[in-house]
Amino acid sequence: MSNEQYEGVKFQTVFLSAQLPANKTLYKLKKWCKLFHDNELAPVQEGGSAGNLSFRTEKGKNEFIITGTQIGLKENLTNNKFVLVKQCDFVNKKIFVEGITEPSSESFLHAAIYNSRPEINAIMHGHSEEILKNAKRLNIKETKKETSYGTLDLVDSVLEILEDIMFIIIKNHGFISLGKTIDEAGKGVLGVLSKI
Ligand SMILES: [Zn+2]
Repeated sequence: MSNEQYEGVKFQTVFLSAQLPANKTLYKLKKWCKLFHDNELAPVQEGGSAGNLSFRTEKGKNEFIITGTQIGLKENLTNNKFVLVKQCDFVNKKIFVEGITEPSSESFLHAAIYNSRPEINAIMHGHSEEILKNAKRLNIKETKKETSYGTLDLVDSVLEILEDIMFIIIKNHGFISLGKTIDEAGKGVLGVLSKI
């Protein structure tokens, strides 16, 4: 894993309202946050290396609920630890949200994937030395160059290889699992872990 220090999110957050996300499927994302924590897929001791999980709130729309930055993914997460991302301005690096927590530093990555993959409704990003070490053996596709977390460089390096793949490695950094549903994205990660 890269030794890059966490230095906060690399975009400006615009809070449109303080309304907390209260989507009826949020409980499923919370369940996978706990499973990520339990399986050490989001080690918090690495500064910014806690994972980030999201799901699209409505088919055909590019709005999604995502974990807040630096929340850790422990048990009993309350709704105030999540944010509804309404819109991303990639040019001016602004993100428009509802909630009270700053969204995950990789929110632009999630937004870009939802934009380019309409069939995808859930995205999970985590960090695991074990998965990185075994990527080649398991034939998991990897981004071509190392990039800094939370940057559009990182987003581009992912989109460059993503095609219609459901699980990829971000070089020297972590993994992304996609799903048509929240459970599918989560099971994709556990499936890879089970082969290690
Ligand atoms: Zn990461």
